[in-house]
Amino acid sequence: MENISVAAARRPDAVGSNVGLRGWVRTRRDSKGGFSFLEINDGSCFANIQVIADGSLPNYEDVIRHLSPGCSIAVQGEIKASPGKGQSTEMHAQEIMLYGQADTETYPLQKKRHSFEFLRTIAHLRPRTNTFGAVARVRNRISRSIHDFFQEEGFLHIHTPIISASDCEGAGELFRVTSLDLANVPKQDGKVDFARDFFEVPSFLTVSGQLQAEAFACSLGKVYTFGPTFRAENSNTSRHLAEFWMIEPEMAFFELPDNMDLAERFLKRIIQDVLADCEEDMQFFQQRIEKTILETLRKVSESQFVRLPYTEAVQVLEKSGESFEYPVQWGHDLQAEHERFLTEQHFQSPVILYDYPRGIKPFYMRVNDDEKTVRAMDVLVPKVGEIIGGSQREERLDVVESRMREQGLDPDAYGWYLDLRRYGTVPHSGFGLGLERMVQFVTGMANIRDVIPFPRTPGNAEF
Ligand code: ATP
Ligand code: MN
Repeated sequence: MENISVAAARRPDAVGSNVGLRGWVRTRRDSKGGFSFLEINDGSCFANIQVIADGSLPNYEDVIRHLSPGCSIAVQGEIKASPGKGQSTEMHAQEIMLYGQADTETYPLQKKRHSFEFLRTIAHLRPRTNTFGAVARVRNRISRSIHDFFQEEGFLHIHTPIISASDCEGAGELFRVTSLDLANVPKQDGKVDFARDFFEVPSFLTVSGQLQAEAFACSLGKVYTFGPTFRAENSNTSRHLAEFWMIEPEMAFFELPDNMDLAERFLKRIIQDVLADCEEDMQFFQQRIEKTILETLRKVSESQFVRLPYTEAVQVLEKSGESFEYPVQWGHDLQAEHERFLTEQHFQSPVILYDYPRGIKPFYMRVNDDEKTVRAMDVLVPKVGEIIGGSQREERLDVVESRMREQGLDPDAYGWYLDLRRYGTVPHSGFGLGLERMVQFVTGMANIRDVIPFPRTPGNAEF
């Protein structure tokens, strides 16, 4: 007998077929008439399928009447049209086989609802809950949408390294990679002798694939990377992880407005794909997580993003009359509260801020003619804040070298990167989208730890 998924069994065209289903029991309810209802979920869709197990089944008393949440079973039977509301089909079991028990005394997912805090302590079991199943399916749909979008646009997917000796941002927050014996570190003149380490230079987990992506964009045109990135920043916020996934397109011959156009189309495409294909999951987020999520997403997918120079954003904030915890000052990074004011109150729309002060942005961003600002852009969305950071890159050799010195970096350490400006340099641009921030935005999930399978944050690497 053919095994099918719960998703397939729930479709009306499955009625009349004799099939097998395999999955986990969510609930069991015994009827006075001597039969039982089982709700089975296999992860293929949000909903369960109802299985009706008749008391005449040979293992009814010994097995079926003891099935509890979490038990894994295989069922064979016929799919019939269901008279119940909220479902079009149900299965009438001819045979039920138990794979594994889930002891009712100890299985942690007995109760219907648990706090997300508690579920983080059982991260290996939380994918069995409605919320985490829905998050996993939406996250998967987003990943697919990302590849579809770039492939259809003629981008090459490239794999940039995870281990790198170059620190993209020129700032700390790096995880070191070493094979040295930490109890017995070789030293030379009182300093660690990295010449005896595996890579013979200090090496780190990557914070971004951008610099390497630039090398491929400046050879092959339009490329993107999609990989894990690592930041040892000790920020315990609902929007930061120590390990997260980033999508970084990099495009030769793109200037900042082209970069903004791409970012806007890209975000809208993801939203449209999720709305089209994850209806049940999104209904759940709407009902249980964020009451306005569907309306927000529809609005965003049809709206035009506001585009505003940083300097004008500062003026808007100064004139707002709001009392912010951190004062707004030209030349300083905007805080989350400022970003939220712009997207949630003032514009009520995603906002692309651009032309940031050079002092707060990395060396690789192109300096504007005013010499004060660089061609940076951040895409801000309601609730989540910054979801994309990007820029037009500085393609002039002398300017990028002096920007490195300005930031205390040694241009000699970036020889290969400068070669891209030395030989056939071109204007080019790119950006980074944090995958988990996008999943947060689309699902309305408040904490970033709940949109990645196994979150890595300070003190947490157990699972
Ligand atoms: P933030 O100011 O929010 O800390 P950032 O400016 O340091 O972010 P970028 O270096 O611009 O971030 O990285 C590009 C994108 O990666 C961000 O727009 C965001 O979506 C995502 N991102 C950055 N840091 C993290 C993190 N620690 N956890 C999850 N996503 C992140
Ligand atoms: Mn940024």
